Amino acid sequence: MSTRRPHIGVLSLQGDVREHARVLTDLGADVELVRRPAELAAIDGLVIPGGESSVIDKLSRAFGMREPVRDAIAAGMPMYGTCAGLILLADRITDGIEGQQTFGGLDVTVQRNAFGSQVDSFETDLDVPVLGDPAVHAVFIRAPLVLESAEGVETLASLEDGRVVAVRQGALLGTSFHPEVTGEHRFHELFLESVRAVR
Ligand code: GLN
Repeated sequence: MSTRRPHIGVLSLQGDVREHARVLTDLGADVELVRRPAELAAIDGLVIPGGESSVIDKLSRAFGMREPVRDAIAAGMPMYGTCAGLILLADRITDGIEGQQTFGGLDVTVQRNAFGSQVDSFETDLDVPVLGDPAVHAVFIRAPLVLESAEGVETLASLEDGRVVAVRQGALLGTSFHPEVTGEHRFHELFLESVRAVR
């Protein structure tokens, strides 16, 4: 196994790129801001940030990134999507804008803006068994929910009422919330573990 630092890309079309870059740097990764297809060849894993999924979708097509990202997913590149990033990794979405597409890869159905406009942001503590103690302080911002998961998709965290907010399938990880804004590093660490496993 290679001992060099993992090269992690953050898809930098729109969204909270800097926050992810900071967490990944803190964890010892070399971070590349990725906008162009050729940049995918230099990385071991990709983070898709929160932001606005319909905008990231449109820009990814405008920059010729959609097919290369789909190819990287098909080739087994580990990816971690937060919020809009989770939406982009979902095979199916509800409440997308007209014509909205995703990269896909996670065999789930995700509902955009699932908490409505009344409660568009909230914070709560989540029990995440795969991370152990302490609970994760999770920030939800116009967040999506995982409505349905196929067999083989692992639920990593749910709200108290059972609604699913973190999933993993193979090398793909997605959370409805934003660990990168609260100093929570353990989801990124989990993602880096799958990067190391693939390398
Ligand atoms: N509501 C946004 C979307 O649909 C996601 C919000 C976020 O990433 N914080 O893409």
